[in-house]
Amino acid sequence: MLAELGFDPGDIDGIFGAQLEKAVRNFQLYAGLGANGVADTATMDALKSRYDEAMSCNTQAEQPLKGVVIGLDPGHQRTGNSDLEPERPGSSEMKKKVSSGTAGRFTGVPEYVVNLQVSIKLKKALESLGAQVVMTRETHDVDISNAERAMMMNRANVDCWLRIHANGSDNPEVHGMFMLVPAVGSMATDDPGVQERSVALAETLLQAAQSSTVAKILGIQTRSDQTGFGWSIVPVCTLEMGHMTNKDEDYQLVTETYQNKIVLGLTEGFLTWFQLAMDHTVWRFYRDEFLA
Ligand SMILES: [Zn+2]
Repeated sequence: MLAELGFDPGDIDGIFGAQLEKAVRNFQLYAGLGANGVADTATMDALKSRYDEAMSCNTQAEQPLKGVVIGLDPGHQRTGNSDLEPERPGSSEMKKKVSSGTAGRFTGVPEYVVNLQVSIKLKKALESLGAQVVMTRETHDVDISNAERAMMMNRANVDCWLRIHANGSDNPEVHGMFMLVPAVGSMATDDPGVQERSVALAETLLQAAQSSTVAKILGIQTRSDQTGFGWSIVPVCTLEMGHMTNKDEDYQLVTETYQNKIVLGLTEGFLTWFQLAMDHTVWRFYRDEFLA
Protein backbone atom coordinates (compact mmCIF):
# COMPACT_ATOMS: atom_id res chain seq x y z
CA MET A 1 0.00 0.00 0.00
CA LEU A 2 2.82 2.40 0.86
CA ALA A 3 4.54 1.75 -2.45
CA GLU A 4 1.36 2.16 -4.45
CA LEU A 5 0.57 5.43 -2.71
CA GLY A 6 4.07 6.70 -3.49
CA PHE A 7 5.49 6.81 0.03
CA ASP A 8 8.33 4.41 -0.67
CA PRO A 9 11.65 6.32 -0.87
CA GLY A 10 13.28 3.53 -2.90
CA ASP A 11 12.39 -0.05 -3.65
CA ILE A 12 10.60 -1.82 -0.83
CA ASP A 13 12.41 -5.14 -0.64
CA GLY A 14 10.03 -7.21 1.51
CA ILE A 15 12.17 -6.84 4.62
CA PHE A 16 11.10 -4.61 7.50
CA GLY A 17 14.27 -2.55 7.45
CA ALA A 18 15.30 1.08 7.13
CA GLN A 19 13.60 1.42 3.73
CA LEU A 20 10.15 0.44 4.95
CA GLU A 21 10.54 2.41 8.17
CA LYS A 22 11.27 5.49 6.06
CA ALA A 23 8.14 4.83 4.00
CA VAL A 24 6.08 4.49 7.19
CA ARG A 25 7.50 7.78 8.51
CA ASN A 26 6.73 9.51 5.19
CA PHE A 27 3.16 8.35 5.40
CA GLN A 28 2.83 9.39 9.04
CA LEU A 29 4.07 12.90 8.18
CA TYR A 30 1.59 13.12 5.34
CA ALA A 31 -1.25 11.86 7.56
CA GLY A 32 -0.40 14.26 10.38
CA LEU A 33 0.50 11.41 12.76
CA GLY A 34 3.58 11.22 14.98
CA ALA A 35 6.40 10.11 12.68
CA ASN A 36 7.82 7.23 14.74
CA GLY A 37 8.16 4.70 11.91
CA VAL A 38 5.98 2.17 13.77
CA ALA A 39 3.02 0.62 11.96
CA ASP A 40 0.69 0.95 14.96
CA THR A 41 -3.11 0.78 14.87
CA ALA A 42 -3.61 4.48 14.15
CA THR A 43 -1.10 4.35 11.30
CA MET A 44 -2.61 1.21 9.79
CA ASP A 45 -6.14 2.60 10.01
CA ALA A 46 -5.08 5.84 8.33
CA LEU A 47 -3.14 3.93 5.68
CA LYS A 48 -6.07 1.63 4.87
CA SER A 49 -8.47 4.52 4.59
CA ARG A 50 -6.07 6.54 2.38
CA TYR A 51 -5.52 3.45 0.25
CA ASP A 52 -9.25 2.81 -0.21
CA GLU A 53 -9.73 6.45 -1.11
CA ALA A 54 -6.92 6.29 -3.69
CA MET A 55 -8.32 3.10 -5.20
CA SER A 56 -11.78 4.63 -5.59
CA CYS A 57 -10.11 7.62 -7.27
CA ASN A 58 -8.41 5.20 -9.66
CA THR A 59 -11.77 4.03 -10.90
CA GLN A 60 -12.23 7.59 -12.13
CA ALA A 61 -8.65 7.62 -13.39
CA GLU A 62 -9.65 9.03 -16.76
CA GLN A 63 -11.03 12.13 -14.97
CA PRO A 64 -8.51 12.80 -12.18
CA LEU A 65 -9.22 16.54 -12.26
CA LYS A 66 -13.01 16.22 -12.05
CA GLY A 67 -14.42 18.87 -9.73
CA VAL A 68 -11.40 21.13 -10.11
CA VAL A 69 -11.77 24.64 -11.58
CA ILE A 70 -8.61 26.09 -13.11
CA GLY A 71 -8.31 29.61 -14.54
CA LEU A 72 -6.01 30.46 -17.44
CA ASP A 73 -5.14 33.98 -18.46
CA PRO A 74 -3.36 34.26 -21.81
CA GLY A 75 -1.42 37.46 -21.18
CA HIS A 76 -2.09 40.70 -23.10
CA GLN A 77 -4.31 41.24 -26.17
CA ARG A 78 -3.90 42.59 -29.70
CA THR A 79 -4.15 46.24 -28.69
CA GLY A 80 -3.02 47.49 -25.29
CA ASN A 81 -5.08 49.87 -23.18
CA SER A 82 -3.00 52.50 -21.41
CA ASP A 83 -5.85 53.89 -19.32
CA LEU A 84 -5.04 53.54 -15.65
CA GLU A 85 -6.47 51.40 -12.88
CA PRO A 86 -5.46 50.89 -9.21
CA GLU A 87 -2.80 48.26 -8.56
CA ARG A 88 -5.13 46.67 -6.00
CA PRO A 89 -8.48 47.62 -4.47
CA GLY A 90 -8.20 51.00 -2.73
CA SER A 91 -4.58 51.57 -3.81
CA SER A 92 -3.46 55.03 -4.99
CA GLU A 93 -0.79 53.32 -7.11
CA MET A 94 -2.08 53.42 -10.69
CA LYS A 95 -1.00 51.04 -13.46
CA LYS A 96 -1.78 50.72 -17.17
CA LYS A 97 -4.83 48.52 -17.69
CA VAL A 98 -3.13 46.10 -20.08
CA SER A 99 -0.17 46.29 -22.43
CA SER A 100 0.25 44.52 -25.76
CA GLY A 101 3.34 42.66 -24.49
CA THR A 102 6.61 41.83 -26.18
CA ALA A 103 7.22 40.17 -29.56
CA GLY A 104 9.71 37.76 -31.07
CA ARG A 105 12.80 39.72 -32.07
CA PHE A 106 13.57 37.13 -34.76
CA THR A 107 10.20 35.56 -35.63
CA GLY A 108 8.20 38.76 -35.26
CA VAL A 109 5.41 36.75 -33.61
CA PRO A 110 3.68 38.82 -30.91
CA GLU A 111 3.72 37.54 -27.34
CA TYR A 112 -0.08 37.65 -27.08
CA VAL A 113 -0.28 35.10 -29.92
CA VAL A 114 2.08 32.61 -28.27
CA ASN A 115 0.35 33.10 -24.91
CA LEU A 116 -3.04 32.22 -26.39
CA GLN A 117 -1.72 29.28 -28.43
CA VAL A 118 -0.23 27.67 -25.32
CA SER A 119 -3.29 28.50 -23.20
CA ILE A 120 -5.72 26.87 -25.64
CA LYS A 121 -3.56 23.73 -25.79
CA LEU A 122 -3.40 23.66 -21.99
CA LYS A 123 -7.14 24.17 -21.70
CA LYS A 124 -7.75 21.12 -23.91
CA ALA A 125 -5.29 19.00 -21.94
CA LEU A 126 -6.81 19.94 -18.57
CA GLU A 127 -10.37 19.47 -19.82
CA SER A 128 -9.48 16.01 -21.12
CA LEU A 129 -8.59 15.15 -17.51
CA GLY A 130 -11.97 16.38 -16.24
CA ALA A 131 -11.07 19.90 -15.07
CA GLN A 132 -13.33 22.86 -15.70
CA VAL A 133 -11.20 25.57 -17.31
CA VAL A 134 -12.10 29.26 -17.21
CA MET A 135 -10.31 31.47 -19.76
CA THR A 136 -10.01 35.25 -19.58
CA ARG A 137 -9.87 35.43 -23.37
CA GLU A 138 -10.01 33.12 -26.38
CA THR A 139 -9.37 35.72 -29.06
CA HIS A 140 -6.92 38.61 -29.43
CA ASP A 141 -9.60 41.23 -29.99
CA VAL A 142 -10.68 41.88 -26.43
CA ASP A 143 -10.18 44.78 -24.05
CA ILE A 144 -9.84 43.24 -20.60
CA SER A 145 -7.66 44.96 -18.03
CA ASN A 146 -5.46 43.01 -15.63
CA ALA A 147 -7.75 43.90 -12.70
CA GLU A 148 -10.77 42.71 -14.69
CA ARG A 149 -9.00 39.44 -15.48
CA ALA A 150 -8.43 38.84 -11.76
CA MET A 151 -12.05 39.69 -10.98
CA MET A 152 -13.23 37.25 -13.67
CA MET A 153 -11.29 34.54 -11.83
CA ASN A 154 -12.65 35.59 -8.43
CA ARG A 155 -16.21 35.52 -9.75
CA ALA A 156 -15.70 32.11 -11.38
CA ASN A 157 -14.48 30.85 -8.01
CA VAL A 158 -11.48 29.09 -9.57
CA ASP A 159 -9.33 26.91 -7.32
CA CYS A 160 -6.29 28.70 -8.74
CA TRP A 161 -5.26 30.43 -11.94
CA LEU A 162 -2.21 30.72 -14.10
CA ARG A 163 -1.22 33.77 -16.10
CA ILE A 164 0.69 32.74 -19.20
CA HIS A 165 3.33 35.10 -20.60
CA ALA A 166 6.68 35.25 -22.38
CA ASN A 167 9.35 37.76 -21.48
CA GLY A 168 11.57 40.22 -23.31
CA SER A 169 14.96 41.60 -22.37
CA ASP A 170 17.34 44.25 -23.71
CA ASN A 171 20.04 41.63 -23.52
CA PRO A 172 19.58 39.01 -26.29
CA GLU A 173 21.70 36.54 -24.31
CA VAL A 174 19.16 36.37 -21.49
CA HIS A 175 17.05 33.22 -21.73
CA GLY A 176 15.11 30.86 -19.51
CA MET A 177 11.79 30.26 -17.85
CA PHE A 178 10.59 31.72 -14.57
CA MET A 179 7.58 32.42 -12.40
CA LEU A 180 6.20 35.56 -10.78
CA VAL A 181 4.34 35.21 -7.49
CA PRO A 182 2.49 37.77 -5.36
CA ALA A 183 4.37 39.27 -2.41
CA VAL A 184 2.98 38.87 1.12
CA GLY A 185 0.15 41.38 1.67
CA SER A 186 -0.13 42.35 -2.01
CA MET A 187 -3.34 40.47 -2.83
CA ALA A 188 -7.01 41.40 -2.46
CA THR A 189 -7.45 39.04 0.48
CA ASP A 190 -6.29 39.11 4.09
CA ASP A 191 -5.85 35.34 4.14
CA PRO A 192 -2.05 34.77 4.13
CA GLY A 193 -2.68 31.17 2.99
CA VAL A 194 -3.64 32.39 -0.48
CA GLN A 195 -0.25 34.00 -1.04
CA GLU A 196 1.53 30.95 0.41
CA ARG A 197 -0.40 28.60 -1.86
CA SER A 198 0.43 30.85 -4.83
CA VAL A 199 4.14 30.34 -4.15
CA ALA A 200 3.76 26.58 -3.67
CA LEU A 201 1.73 26.34 -6.88
CA ALA A 202 4.43 28.24 -8.78
CA GLU A 203 7.11 25.89 -7.44
CA THR A 204 5.12 22.81 -8.43
CA LEU A 205 4.29 24.05 -11.94
CA LEU A 206 7.77 25.41 -12.65
CA GLN A 207 9.46 22.19 -11.61
CA ALA A 208 7.12 20.17 -13.82
CA ALA A 209 7.58 22.53 -16.79
CA GLN A 210 11.35 22.31 -16.35
CA SER A 211 11.24 18.50 -16.49
CA SER A 212 9.33 18.47 -19.76
CA THR A 213 11.09 21.35 -21.57
CA VAL A 214 14.58 21.19 -20.00
CA ALA A 215 14.53 24.97 -20.23
CA LYS A 216 16.95 26.98 -18.11
CA ILE A 217 15.13 27.91 -14.90
CA LEU A 218 15.58 31.43 -13.60
CA GLY A 219 13.58 30.83 -10.44
CA ILE A 220 10.67 32.56 -8.75
CA GLN A 221 10.31 36.35 -8.51
CA THR A 222 8.16 37.85 -5.77
CA ARG A 223 6.25 40.91 -7.01
CA SER A 224 3.98 43.45 -5.35
CA ASP A 225 3.41 45.54 -8.50
CA GLN A 226 1.24 43.18 -10.54
CA THR A 227 -2.37 44.31 -10.91
CA GLY A 228 -3.37 40.76 -11.86
CA PHE A 229 -2.18 39.60 -8.43
CA GLY A 230 -3.41 42.69 -6.60
CA TRP A 231 -7.07 42.06 -7.41
CA SER A 232 -7.01 38.28 -6.91
CA ILE A 233 -8.48 36.52 -3.89
CA VAL A 234 -7.41 33.05 -5.05
CA PRO A 235 -3.96 31.49 -5.57
CA VAL A 236 -2.30 32.77 -8.74
CA CYS A 237 1.11 32.86 -10.38
CA THR A 238 2.54 34.00 -13.71
CA LEU A 239 4.61 31.76 -15.95
CA GLU A 240 7.16 33.51 -18.14
CA MET A 241 7.68 30.71 -20.68
CA GLY A 242 10.94 32.09 -22.07
CA HIS A 243 12.52 35.14 -23.67
CA MET A 244 11.28 36.22 -27.09
CA THR A 245 14.36 38.44 -27.38
CA ASN A 246 16.67 35.42 -27.33
CA LYS A 247 17.16 33.82 -30.73
CA ASP A 248 16.89 30.18 -29.65
CA GLU A 249 13.93 30.68 -27.35
CA ASP A 250 12.09 32.90 -29.80
CA TYR A 251 12.28 30.20 -32.49
CA GLN A 252 11.39 27.48 -29.95
CA LEU A 253 8.39 29.25 -28.44
CA VAL A 254 6.50 29.50 -31.72
CA THR A 255 6.77 25.78 -32.50
CA GLU A 256 4.04 23.24 -31.88
CA THR A 257 6.62 20.82 -30.44
CA TYR A 258 7.95 23.17 -27.79
CA GLN A 259 4.50 24.49 -26.89
CA ASN A 260 3.35 20.90 -26.39
CA LYS A 261 6.28 20.28 -24.05
CA ILE A 262 5.27 23.29 -21.96
CA VAL A 263 1.65 22.10 -21.90
CA LEU A 264 2.66 18.57 -20.94
CA GLY A 265 4.76 19.85 -18.04
CA LEU A 266 2.08 22.23 -16.77
CA THR A 267 -0.57 19.52 -17.00
CA GLU A 268 1.59 17.18 -14.94
CA GLY A 269 2.20 20.04 -12.53
CA PHE A 270 -1.53 20.62 -12.07
CA LEU A 271 -2.08 16.88 -11.53
CA THR A 272 0.58 16.91 -8.82
CA TRP A 273 -0.90 20.04 -7.28
CA PHE A 274 -4.48 18.86 -7.11
CA GLN A 275 -3.87 15.23 -6.22
CA LEU A 276 -1.15 15.62 -3.65
CA ALA A 277 -1.20 19.21 -2.57
CA MET A 278 -4.74 19.77 -1.37
CA ASP A 279 -3.13 20.78 1.87
CA HIS A 280 0.09 22.29 0.66
CA THR A 281 1.66 22.70 4.10
CA VAL A 282 1.45 18.98 4.70
CA TRP A 283 2.56 18.34 1.15
CA ARG A 284 5.66 20.53 1.37
CA PHE A 285 6.64 18.98 4.68
CA TYR A 286 6.06 15.52 3.32
CA ARG A 287 7.85 16.29 0.08
CA ASP A 288 10.93 17.66 1.83
CA GLU A 289 11.12 14.60 4.02
CA PHE A 290 10.48 12.35 1.07
CA LEU A 291 13.23 13.90 -1.00
CA ALA A 292 15.73 13.99 1.89
ZN1 LIG B 1 3.68 39.42 -20.97
